[in-house]
Amino acid sequence: MLTHDVLIIGAGGSGLRAALEATTNGVDTAIVSKLHPLRSHTVAAAGGINAALAEGDSWEGHMEDTVKGSDYLADQDSVEFLCREAASALIELEHFGTIFNRDEKGKMASRPFGGHGLPRAYFAGDRTGLAILQTNYEQVLKNNVHVYIEWQALSLAVVGDQCVGVIAIDLATGELHAIRSKAVILATGPAGQIYAKTTNALSCTGDGISLAYRAGTPLKDMEFVQFHPTSLWGPNVLITEAARGEGGILLNNKEERFMEKYAPKMKDMAARDVVSRAIQTEINEGRGFEGGYVHLKVNQLGSDYLRERLPEVIEFSADFAGVDATKELIPIEPAQHYVMGGIAVTLDCSTSIRGLYAAGECTCMSLHGANRLGGNALLELQVFGKKAGANAAEYAKKCPSPEFPLQTLSNVENQNREMLSRQDGERPNRIRHDLQSTMTNNVGIYRSAEGLSEAIKNILELKKRYRQVYVQDSGKVFNTDLTMTIELGFMLDLAEVIAVGALARTESRGGHSRIDYPDRDDKKWLVHTIARYSPDGPKLEKEDVRITGLKPAIRSY
Ligand SMILES: Cc1cc2nc3c(=O)[nH]c(=O)nc-3n(C[C@H](O)[C@H](O)[C@H](O)COP(=O)(O)OP(=O)(O)OC[C@H]3O[C@@H](n4cnc5c(N)ncnc54)[C@H](O)[C@@H]3O)c2cc1C
Repeated sequence: MLTHDVLIIGAGGSGLRAALEATTNGVDTAIVSKLHPLRSHTVAAAGGINAALAEGDSWEGHMEDTVKGSDYLADQDSVEFLCREAASALIELEHFGTIFNRDEKGKMASRPFGGHGLPRAYFAGDRTGLAILQTNYEQVLKNNVHVYIEWQALSLAVVGDQCVGVIAIDLATGELHAIRSKAVILATGPAGQIYAKTTNALSCTGDGISLAYRAGTPLKDMEFVQFHPTSLWGPNVLITEAARGEGGILLNNKEERFMEKYAPKMKDMAARDVVSRAIQTEINEGRGFEGGYVHLKVNQLGSDYLRERLPEVIEFSADFAGVDATKELIPIEPAQHYVMGGIAVTLDCSTSIRGLYAAGECTCMSLHGANRLGGNALLELQVFGKKAGANAAEYAKKCPSPEFPLQTLSNVENQNREMLSRQDGERPNRIRHDLQSTMTNNVGIYRSAEGLSEAIKNILELKKRYRQVYVQDSGKVFNTDLTMTIELGFMLDLAEVIAVGALARTESRGGHSRIDYPDRDDKKWLVHTIARYSPDGPKLEKEDVRITGLKPAIRSY
């Protein structure tokens, strides 16, 4: 049987950084990734990665902005660790070979990002994620990590309260494999595909979050979903916040700079939840353009500057909207962008299952609370990827070689066989489409008891339809019909947890806006939502927020 000490699921920024740390700690390390590492969603990250490196800045300032941005829901000990580690994480990336932009003095250049008091987003043009992912991958290649490329994990193997490996499918052959490992790190990234309008790649289906949930690990704060203010109207390709950081402004159909109304001080650079709500309100009240969009104006920055700092904004606008951003206005609308919630982890990246660790967007380290500030996600990958790798390696060193429950392999074999044996039924793409529209329509920027109840009813109905889903392709080689159907099962789980959590939370905080409960309610809801799997749907509990010094205050920008 394939056997390793530490097995990482996912080869995005968090998985690669975890692998590097585990292998340099002297344990046999491998990665399983359904995509080639360089196709992980981290590659799409554009605008920047944060650290308080500039003169006059401090980790305390970064922490204050992050906690305020989170609408006071973030666990402050987690945020403190992130912000204290940020400077060394960036310098480490530089030493690995990440090519960051420079300022006139030759130092790493930074740009302003929404909700930050000072410019502290460091960047490589508007391709920061690509630069970081490539350097992390180079380090992994250099350091002897085996990567199972285009292998997809379909189940965790858990004995009692201990994780001992995974079952994965080799996509090129269709073969199922058991991989035994003393420690497993989930680094499977985002889940944005549950929404119709999302900036996330097709592969962002929340697999790891669902695998952990089904195995009994609680999920935390799943109702908090981030909607990015500026995606291209229609295809929802992201137009990075750096476009506003560099001086871009939002205009409605009267050519008014409407953000002055909603955030008098920070205007277009307020936190994302604030700007997305403002855009949606302009559209809902008839000050948007027909079809539901407003304009982003960057042409005043000049063509040369735009080409140097924001080449992808120009390219994406031309390729996907037929707009020349150096001359014309860009049509934009908000779209799902990030899930603040995820697998509940402790500060050392462990979960409630022994030997199971997690890092990156699939977790809720509670750094972002109810709303994430731009630039903090890439930082999270470096800081907590490293921590997960180190802790999993330490654990593996002390753990005797576990027995692997072969029953898990036959269970997955049987599930797949059953799915493939159906001769007719409903095709998965229809269920996927209906799920995505119900989430965008009813669990979006503005929510209400009525809409959320409707969403839950629809999701339960979709789960019923899913039980009879029909996979047409019975082939072995790259059977994406089968794997996308399995992913749909993961997505249905997560959509349910998000909608049930959102209905229960009768307040508005950060990215969760209830029109029927418009105010933040610290008395009742300054708590995390914990969701546990049960066959009848998620069971919710509350958990205290860890507040170490920053008292909840009124949040205005
Ligand atoms: C368009 C866009 C722009 C962004 N820009 C920024 C930015 O400028 N700054 C910032 O801080 N943040 C940004 N973010 C957020 C940030 O990029 C993500 O949160 C982060 O990159 C996620 O990294 P990850 O390692 O958790 O996951 P990913 O990079 O998505 O990697 C997930 C990995 O898991 C693997 N995987 C998933 N499921 C399975 C499975 N079942 N079996 C095996 N492998 C699996 C995939 O193959 C992949 O390798 C942006 C996000 C998007 C979508």
